Amino acid sequence: MATLTISNLNKTYPNGVKALDNVSLTITNGMFGLLGPNGAGKSTLMRTLACLQEADSGDMQLDDINIRTRPDELRKVLGYLPQEFGVYPRITAEQLLDHLCVLKGIGHSKERKELVHHLLQKVNLYDKRNKSVKGFSGGMKQRVGIAQALIGNPKLIIVDEPTAGLDPGERNRFHNLLADVGQEVVVLLSTHIVDDVRELCTDMAIMNHGAIVFNGSPTAALDSLDGQVWERQITRPEIEKYKKQYHVISDKMVAGSPIIHVLSDTQPDGFLRVSPNLEDVFFTMTSQNLHHA
Ligand code: ADP
Repeated sequence: MATLTISNLNKTYPNGVKALDNVSLTITNGMFGLLGPNGAGKSTLMRTLACLQEADSGDMQLDDINIRTRPDELRKVLGYLPQEFGVYPRITAEQLLDHLCVLKGIGHSKERKELVHHLLQKVNLYDKRNKSVKGFSGGMKQRVGIAQALIGNPKLIIVDEPTAGLDPGERNRFHNLLADVGQEVVVLLSTHIVDDVRELCTDMAIMNHGAIVFNGSPTAALDSLDGQVWERQITRPEIEKYKKQYHVISDKMVAGSPIIHVLSDTQPDGFLRVSPNLEDVFFTMTSQNLHHA
């Protein structure tokens, strides 16, 4: 398995937005989830790792490859599924993948055909290989995206916000595929969807305002809030009052009434202690940082 080491990456856009604030992470195996709200800096980090844009300072290393100084070496072992995979042409899935194999330097047509068939089987689109990708559903397009990211046996696969816009069934199938891929390759998954990380990742980081505010296993994330999360069902007009009185980390409608989660060292009146969930951790870490900012 490969090891990706990110050290002290910084990036400020010309408009003054600091999108990467001294980001350091070590990613070793399986599926790594990078969780953060929109605007946290996830895409900036993904694009910097994929050598599509440059950081102002810092370093990135994949095993013995220095990503900043040897981007061409990195590209040979990188699979990248961007947020927007671009325009899907009116050609078949098989033709598209074959074409992408040519672009990745696989010149031998018999070798390409075998690889493309293997990839189509892997992402469960073999039966659809002669259909135009333009007509594919969102989930099928994402699976084509994974197939193309697997061309050339990458050591590292970067997947940026992959499940946005997928229906639950498609999302499930995509999760299973990613979990399967994550057995063999380091997969870095960026998402704002807590469930993606909960269901898939062995290791994770939470990003907010360009900075890493948590790094560890999902279990460690839950342990960090153990005993501090309290729940109560309230009526809708009461929400503002509770928000003033307590550190409300989430409110969720259940059967028409809000259930709120509050962060507190001691039991607030009328609340019951609950086991923290990953959403509690996410909201706590991202709102705390907001208060400090
Ligand atoms: P995320 O992927 O977590 O939603 P991004 O990396 O896209 O976050 O954006 C991080 C911050 O940088 C946001 O405030 C965004 O508006 C800003 N940003 C992203 N790209 C650019 C750019 N090309 N020029 C200026 N600001 C940008």
